[in-house]
Amino acid sequence: MELLIGNGFVYDPINGVKGERMDVAVKDGKIVDRVNERAAKVLDVSGMLVMSGGVDIHTHIAGAEVNTGRLLRPEDHFKDFERKTILTRSGVGRSVPSTFTTGYRYSRMGYTTIMNPSMPPLEAKHTHEELNDTPMVDKASYPLLGDWWFTLEFLSSGNIEELARYVAWIMKSTRGYAIKVVNPGGLEAWGFGGNVKSLDDQVPNFCITPREIVRGLCKVNTMLNLPHTVHLHTNNLGKPGNFETTLETMKSVEDLGSRGKPVIHITHCQFSAFEGDDWRSLASGADKIADYVNNHSHVTLDMGQVIFTDTTTMTADGPFQFGLYELTGNKWTNHDVETETSAGIVPFHYRRKNYVHSIQWTIGLELALLIKDPWKIFMTTDHPNGGPFTSYPRIIAWLISKKARKATLRKINARARSRSILPSIDRELDFNEIAIMTRAGQARALGLVNKGHLGVGADADIAIYKVNPDKTDTSKQYKAVRKAFKRAAVTIKSGQIVVKDGEIVQNVDGSTIWLDVDVSKQAHITDEIKHKFRQYWTVEFENYPVTEHYLKASRPIPVKADV
Ligand SMILES: [Zn+2]
Repeated sequence: MELLIGNGFVYDPINGVKGERMDVAVKDGKIVDRVNERAAKVLDVSGMLVMSGGVDIHTHIAGAEVNTGRLLRPEDHFKDFERKTILTRSGVGRSVPSTFTTGYRYSRMGYTTIMNPSMPPLEAKHTHEELNDTPMVDKASYPLLGDWWFTLEFLSSGNIEELARYVAWIMKSTRGYAIKVVNPGGLEAWGFGGNVKSLDDQVPNFCITPREIVRGLCKVNTMLNLPHTVHLHTNNLGKPGNFETTLETMKSVEDLGSRGKPVIHITHCQFSAFEGDDWRSLASGADKIADYVNNHSHVTLDMGQVIFTDTTTMTADGPFQFGLYELTGNKWTNHDVETETSAGIVPFHYRRKNYVHSIQWTIGLELALLIKDPWKIFMTTDHPNGGPFTSYPRIIAWLISKKARKATLRKINARARSRSILPSIDRELDFNEIAIMTRAGQARALGLVNKGHLGVGADADIAIYKVNPDKTDTSKQYKAVRKAFKRAAVTIKSGQIVVKDGEIVQNVDGSTIWLDVDVSKQAHITDEIKHKFRQYWTVEFENYPVTEHYLKASRPIPVKADV
């Protein structure tokens, strides 16, 4: 099928296109140079924005953890449900939507690729079953490897090459996309009710430190030539004063960057940019993080923006979630995933009048506005931790308009407002910068070469929004922009028109992207290791891998490793 998207204002930062009026041609699911204008379906999008489909680098949408969140929160479902239509299934959930609803809602906002950032290898099968049921978007998952016993053992014995082979094996076995590390060392310690407090603490029983885990896995990532960097949730997340740990973590891998290429992604950085000694003296450490990031090129971040709303927090950081439970007294659930990781879930309501929540709200925006280069920081809420992903248009409004920020600042906690530098920041992002922070930059950081742009050969994943950049003063008319990004005028997935005027008009599956890592020497999986599986895992070695038939639409990306 041929499609010609005519006359829109195209924002395609990867190819240096900044709002030029031009056509985009599509054939067989890909962007092409030109199509036969008489045969092609022509879509006149005069006066509208044209961007590549949105990319979300970090959103908890599938797997055991998310599903437990759904079970824990029936009240989240009562508030918000989707009716069945001729094309779409019914569904429920505001902060933890069911699988189909997740796909529809992303698609309605013009998103076409989303990354599920937290998959215990043991629960990979469940994760992929849910991803199969998440339509409209391409998706991928990051296996949690920071506290995986193989990581701890091979690193403490100094056998980094064998670890690299094992990581290649697990990436294939779980059909995973990137190395995820959460509170390195802390999750293993949590198995004994403990935690680690600094980069140089000892992890119980393994004779290794968080610093060695982070550095070791960054080296493995480079040895394997993985397209994304290590994706890190820092130690001490969610604790006052933690910006120092975050700075130290970034510094600890400074020497591993090469040719200006990032080696680490600090995810939902807002939660790791707290200054102060306790909750009363909590302040923003965003300026210090931004200052460091502005002067270095080996790191990328995403925001983890807080939204004032009722939501659900969920992370593999079991000890953090226990702390949050103690702080709030809310219902909670916690889990130790055998030899791999932990997890916890606590419902949470961010309130405007709460000092701490207000400070958190300012931190996310300060990070996004103080970091000069939009290729280094991406828009997320760490869905659903900072708020549901459906709040993205609201964040866009805050980023493009000082007036929008002022309107919210007026309503937040007065002490937080008086201590924040946010009111003094004048920067207002333009559509080019928004396109970078919501798709181009995310795709580039993920190493997804066919995503995030509209160049010839790219996947024809396209979002069209009803806002005319020539006639819109985004600073003043931020509400119109917010509305436009909430309901895409058209979403195109792999060349198919799937959304029109914010409604689903066609159902597509989307594929599951994973890394087929090719190593010159395979991991040496001995009988001893198989025996270990019998001893310490509830799943036998033979049942551990996810076979490809689990994936409804499999899209392997070949990677040639150096080991
Ligand atoms: Zn997360």
